[in-house]
Amino acid sequence: MAEDLRSEGGAEEGALRTGEVVKLDRGYPLVRFPDGERLRCEHATALVKGHDQRAVIGDVVAVSVPAAHDKGVIEAIAPRTREFVRKDPTERALPQVLAANFERVIVAQPVGEVNLRRLERELVLAFETGAAVTVVLTKGDLADEAATAAVREAVESLAGPATEVLVVSEADPASVEAVRRLLAPGTTTVLIGRSGVGKSSLVNMLVGTEVLEVGAVREGDGKGRHTTVSREIVAVPGAGRIVDMPGVRGLGLWDAEAGIEAAFPDVESLAEECRFRDCTHQGEPGCAVCAAVAAGALPRTRYDSYQALCREAADVRDRREQARRLNKDKAAYSKHYRKKGAGPSRGGRRR
Ligand code: GDP
Ligand code: ZN
Repeated sequence: MAEDLRSEGGAEEGALRTGEVVKLDRGYPLVRFPDGERLRCEHATALVKGHDQRAVIGDVVAVSVPAAHDKGVIEAIAPRTREFVRKDPTERALPQVLAANFERVIVAQPVGEVNLRRLERELVLAFETGAAVTVVLTKGDLADEAATAAVREAVESLAGPATEVLVVSEADPASVEAVRRLLAPGTTTVLIGRSGVGKSSLVNMLVGTEVLEVGAVREGDGKGRHTTVSREIVAVPGAGRIVDMPGVRGLGLWDAEAGIEAAFPDVESLAEECRFRDCTHQGEPGCAVCAAVAAGALPRTRYDSYQALCREAADVRDRREQARRLNKDKAAYSKHYRKKGAGPSRGGRRR
């Protein structure tokens, strides 16, 4: 692979350096090399053309540094161990990878304003990555003990017994310590959650200094500052690394079957008792899920979100299928015309 890259020109012999994308800097990947040097990079045309491969936070990349060029060029992206994927909010049927190569996802919500529906969705996306998942309830000082206990219980029953739920507060260093213990040295943790939930504050507390500007991101507040600070992977002293993931306002499902299964273990275990193996739990005879709802054993709200997320996942799968078929038709169409030497010119083809 490296030989191919060199023969493509631009880079001098042996000029490829391996680094890691630690931040997206105004759309350009910022790559950090093992010696600590950071370099703003662009993508080699070969990567972007055709397959539209673009490096994301956490990617390990091979970079060439052409002489008399102020940016590096990403020539190759190493296969990812893990990806955080959502549906591209601007496209009908495209995935968008937000981060790569991490071991844990922390889902953050403020303890005083937990949105369980959003949490379900965040958990589906987090579980779908295959990483370890933790829920961190922030701003613990803003809720009293009884309220915190009630919220914790609700969140724990939602997240399932395998998922740890922690409450943190700026006022309580021990609570931050508990998060630090999760970040094993040599691992990377991705922090997700709405803007304003206290993610940068948490990172700053973990690192011990102000590495991220707190309250700098204002989304949809009409006027006011619209400084979008893009977040960087930072090392937590004595622990692993953490990155506060930018730009996760919309969390559309992409591949979600496994994530839904993991996020709804209660429904999944009931489903094993359904009469039909392919039961959709929508009124089929012998459906154990519907029976549990009727008996009050499975909350209807929980059942409703499960069904809504399944529908969304099925819908995105259908659209992908349609897009694939459309592309196939298009390819067949242009092949047909190329053979005949007529039809639309290549320049006129659009995606
Ligand atoms: P982010 O957008 O998720 O990174 O959120 P920030 O870290 O910027 O925090 C948003 C606001 O919540 C800021 O005004 C913080 O000072 C405040 N905040 C964060 N953590 C805590 C906390 O533990 N307690 C209280 N009372 N406020 C907090
Ligand atoms: Zn069923």
